[in-house]
Amino acid sequence: MLSAGVIEQLRDIVGADGVIARDSELRVYECDGYTLERSTPQVVVLPKSTAEVAAILTVLHSERIAFVPRGAGTGLSGGCLPIDAPVMVCTSRMKRIVAIDFANRRATVEAGVANLAVTNEVKSRGLYYAPDPSSQQACTIGGNVAENSGGPHTLKYGVTTNHVLGLELVLPSGEIVQLGGAVEDVPGYDLVGLTVGSEGTFGIVTQATLRLSRQPESWKTLLAVFESVNDATQTVSGIIAAGIVPAALEMMDRLIVEAIEAAYHFGFPTDAGAVLIIELDGLAAGLERQAQQVVEICRANHSREVKVAKDEAERAALWKSRKRAFGAVGRLAPSYCTQDGVVPRTKLPDILRAITRIGVHYRLRIANVFHAGDGNIHPILLYDERNADEVERVLAAGREILEACVALGGSVTGEHGIGVEKIQQMPLIFSPTDLLVMQQLRKVFDPTLRSNPGKIFPTPGVCVETTRPMRRAAM
Ligand SMILES: Cc1cc2nc3c(=O)[nH]c(=O)nc-3n(C[C@H](O)[C@H](O)[C@H](O)COP(=O)(O)OP(=O)(O)OC[C@H]3O[C@@H](n4cnc5c(N)ncnc54)[C@H](O)[C@@H]3O)c2cc1C
Repeated sequence: MLSAGVIEQLRDIVGADGVIARDSELRVYECDGYTLERSTPQVVVLPKSTAEVAAILTVLHSERIAFVPRGAGTGLSGGCLPIDAPVMVCTSRMKRIVAIDFANRRATVEAGVANLAVTNEVKSRGLYYAPDPSSQQACTIGGNVAENSGGPHTLKYGVTTNHVLGLELVLPSGEIVQLGGAVEDVPGYDLVGLTVGSEGTFGIVTQATLRLSRQPESWKTLLAVFESVNDATQTVSGIIAAGIVPAALEMMDRLIVEAIEAAYHFGFPTDAGAVLIIELDGLAAGLERQAQQVVEICRANHSREVKVAKDEAERAALWKSRKRAFGAVGRLAPSYCTQDGVVPRTKLPDILRAITRIGVHYRLRIANVFHAGDGNIHPILLYDERNADEVERVLAAGREILEACVALGGSVTGEHGIGVEKIQQMPLIFSPTDLLVMQQLRKVFDPTLRSNPGKIFPTPGVCVETTRPMRRAAM
């Protein structure tokens, strides 16, 4: 329990309106996009600068109080769930674009800046920030760094770690450290690489220096329609095997296409077994020939139709529909749970067959929309939160899907992180020694384990309240 004195000290740092302590207001912070588990912090603190974050963590350090960092709360693994951490530090007031160096294509931004805001800031100069999670309108750069987030264009352009040059990090002790910098190849250990993906367990990232990319000269975006999921996944392997690296290669099955079409009326064929969105980009010269090659591979895999977006407006509408797919799922069921696993690309047909089998076994409907080019699956398990038995079946089916991913040579998460959701699955891919080394590394940054406790690694004595899941209204 936090003392009134500590809360008073926090108010002194951020001002009275920067501390949320009323029960009704705290409910907003009881979970992220993973709603199966909930826990409410005692206070939420909203700093406006690095100095305020450092002052907050200094107070918490002297009182030995644990805390949890939070960005926009769009995470899908319970990463910002407060577990044995009474204080939540939320970056929603740290939205400053600190500096843009157009000539060297760098931007330094505060942690609370939304992903898409970076691109919006630089697009008039032909630049953009490449990692593009489907949540990019809301999710923050700090959250992206913590989760090493990806997105549809990860296939060609990489994930967050490939686009972060430097980080400002406030350690749990309150000390401020600068990791990396604006130049490439800073000597010494790659502490930026280590911090990206550390899920808030090293302290609070307050600023990031990001690499900006030049927008490609030209795009070709294709929609290929298939009678079966199997044909679509064989096409994915076929395209990559032909030496083509599309900018994006996304798959949606019939259930998700039906939901998207009902919501956004793009013109998707609702009777198709699956569709692929294939985006090629680069120099205009040669793109046409590459697109033709892709069409031939689709046809060889029994595609019944391949459409090319005829202009930028059609391309934008296609992506808008894809990126809002999760929003459309509410039409299919009152509640849903998005899983996140990875398999080698060539194993996509196997994992999709396994998902179908698991769905039948547990009597669940499962929709699939995912980054097929990366082998990163996102089965969406549909259920009704009022049905306790169905909830149990969702949890069991989710576990089985991840086990199937590992059995096929994959991993238990592609981009949503471990959070609280997948702690029990860590031993499926790491030995006890692997896990010990990671935990020892964490202690270098956070010797007393007060930054986001109860995440990634099983922690003895930590408890989390598993409640009945609620509808994911925010998505
Ligand atoms: C509709 C929808 C679509 C999505 N699509 C994608 C997708 O395509 N690709 C993808 O990778 N993810 C996707 N996600 C998941 C999610 O958006 C990402 O994980 C995102 O990076 C989370 O950012 P956030 O600001 O919401 O972080 P939060 O959810 O607030 O926090 C996530 C984690 O980061 C930590 N954290 C947050 N800020 C900081 C900070 N400043 N310093 C240290 N730690 C911090 C938290 O403690 C927590 O562990 C999607 C989510 C939704 C709801």
